[in-house]
Amino acid sequence: MASTKYIFVTGGVTSSLGKGIISASLGKLLQARGYTVTIQKFDPYINIDPGTLNPYEHGECYVTDDGAETDLDLGHYERFLNITTSQDNNVTTGRIYFNVITKERKGEYLGKTVQVIPHITDEIKRNIFLLGDKGEYDFVITEIGGCVGDIESLPFIEAVRQAKWDIGPHNSVVIHLTLIPYLKAAKELKTKPTQHSVKQLLEAGIQPDILVCRTEQKLPDEIRKKLALFCNVANNSVIEALDAETIYDVPMFMHKEKLTERVLTKLKLPSKTQPDLEQWKNFLLKLKNPSDEVNIALVGKYVELQDAYKSIMESFIHAGAENDCKVNLKWIHSEDIETQSAEKLLEGVDGVLVAPGFGERGLEGKIEAVKYVRENKIPFFGICLGMQCAVIEFARNVLKLKKASTTELNEKTPHPVIDLMEEQKTIINKGGTMRLGSYDCHLTRGSKVSQIYHTANIQERHRHRFEFNNKYLDDFEKAGMHAVGINPDSNLVEIMEIKDHPFFIGTQFHPELKSTVANPHPLFVSFVKAVLKHKQG
Ligand code: GLN
Repeated sequence: MASTKYIFVTGGVTSSLGKGIISASLGKLLQARGYTVTIQKFDPYINIDPGTLNPYEHGECYVTDDGAETDLDLGHYERFLNITTSQDNNVTTGRIYFNVITKERKGEYLGKTVQVIPHITDEIKRNIFLLGDKGEYDFVITEIGGCVGDIESLPFIEAVRQAKWDIGPHNSVVIHLTLIPYLKAAKELKTKPTQHSVKQLLEAGIQPDILVCRTEQKLPDEIRKKLALFCNVANNSVIEALDAETIYDVPMFMHKEKLTERVLTKLKLPSKTQPDLEQWKNFLLKLKNPSDEVNIALVGKYVELQDAYKSIMESFIHAGAENDCKVNLKWIHSEDIETQSAEKLLEGVDGVLVAPGFGERGLEGKIEAVKYVRENKIPFFGICLGMQCAVIEFARNVLKLKKASTTELNEKTPHPVIDLMEEQKTIINKGGTMRLGSYDCHLTRGSKVSQIYHTANIQERHRHRFEFNNKYLDDFEKAGMHAVGINPDSNLVEIMEIKDHPFFIGTQFHPELKSTVANPHPLFVSFVKAVLKHKQG
């Protein structure tokens, strides 16, 4: 294709309509027709990135290979499209202003008054075109976070209006995702909120090309026609997006509704060829027809908001389908383990995952959970803080270092088996200063993990400040907990494993950030396999 085409996805009426899933689904469908696609998200908040946000605020913080702390929608993009994203794929208002203000301080505006238009909008457009200018993509999909009409989204919407002019006709499409509520009392689907949100877009100078309508009921023809008439779009450009049983159905729903055909036609591109969706359909078939099921406890401290563990949940979906097995997650609050008992709360589960996390709250509960699964030979998988808890538990109960801990919990512990990384000790700023992104890891020959990965050298993504304290390594090795994954440059321990156990693996990195539909993560796949085996006795 001669040049990159741009697709803008805006949202109206309410938030949480699933712009990320619609964007990822459209990306998948374009990819299935042989196009190269990337997706970016603009977030209208002032934080430079979501790295400093509490998971309760905004769900999981998704980390890319280049170490960017990003919105969880980037996880959907990677999982659906099997691509990697980067810092360029997630930009916040904070970052836009930061860049503009930095330039201003350097004197780059040559004495001009720096204003929202053109300086902020120019910086937004620079970020839109940055991905297209790489020359790698046929399509750049840009998701505008928030709702049309929000004060904080205005500069982004204005930048889209300008960008459309810069790109010229037939090179961009605007998709507006909206909600068609059903009023039970009136037994009617209502179009008015959508009419109003399109009106707001029009006031900002943008005519949407396509409406994607979230709805709990099928959209009858007369409703489609009404929406088309009042919102100034073609009848066939009113796309129904019914509630789905799983997010992985959405590409198929959008395919049925001919969303890609509409996009391609608007861009004057050939739309007749059929997409190759075989792999996706096979995945769905396996996902929906499992021959067995397992119960896995997810022990964490943010369990009230499951979005905090988005990538872990999705990794279990991929790994379950791969094993022909439904994974039921049982959410266990680690603080409840402290007040009740691991035995009571974990009784009957087939496997346990101890989740990543920060801070002191609920940490002892996680350590209790590890003790229970280690002693009862229940398959265990610990991620980041989960691995650190496994190390502490082993130190306390096997090495008999009763007061062993992490300095994150107790700075004065006599046995800091988990300690702050050397380079972290002088860091004061919280934002973007953890050990972030992809690092090499060398796997020990003959270890369980090397069999699982079928290779000796891997790269995985990180987000932490604390590490295994190598002063204790010999003691652990002698007692049967082995460091089987090591960073070749820094010697940091990345994986701990107990051999004499059905499955006991802890990783300092986050494998959940690299599991996709096309490539379920090997550690999750083999964990689910071990859990299934354990259940079947
Ligand atoms: N709090 C721990 C650390 O900073 C673990 C982080 C995590 O689980 N992502 O090292």
